[in-house]
Amino acid sequence: MHTPEGCLFCRAVRGELGVSRLYEDEAVLGFEDIRPQAPLHMLFIPKRHVASTDALTEADSALAGRLLWAAANFARQRGYAEDGYRLVVNCNAHGGQTVFHLHVHLLAGRPLGWPPG
Ligand code: 5GP
Ligand code: ZN
Repeated sequence: MHTPEGCLFCRAVRGELGVSRLYEDEAVLGFEDIRPQAPLHMLFIPKRHVASTDALTEADSALAGRLLWAAANFARQRGYAEDGYRLVVNCNAHGGQTVFHLHVHLLAGRPLGWPPG
């Protein structure tokens, strides 16, 4: 569902969904993806419900930046920065978005192909 009440990732923020919380600050939660596509596959989400990048407003700029920073800093601290990693944000149907709470995928630990399918 697209409302915060029924939203899967809002439930994760509230502790109602069993997720492996590996990163948390006042605005961002980072947890392991349930279907990992790489040795490290995490999702970084704003604690406040934002449906997608399409729903971002200018007032959300700091939050969007913090999401990116949190994922990048986590990757660096885990030792993935030198080899490299990928941050992905899918938006709506053509982008492949399936959960409508904004999330940044962090994929690391293997070489990743390009272009995506
Ligand atoms: P999207 O396709 O929207 O970019 O990514 C959604 C991601 O959420 C997928 O990679 C999917 O595996 C993950 N996901 C879906 N349901 C759950 C869940 O219940 N727990 C966790 N940890 N990840 C989930
Ligand atoms: Zn939500």
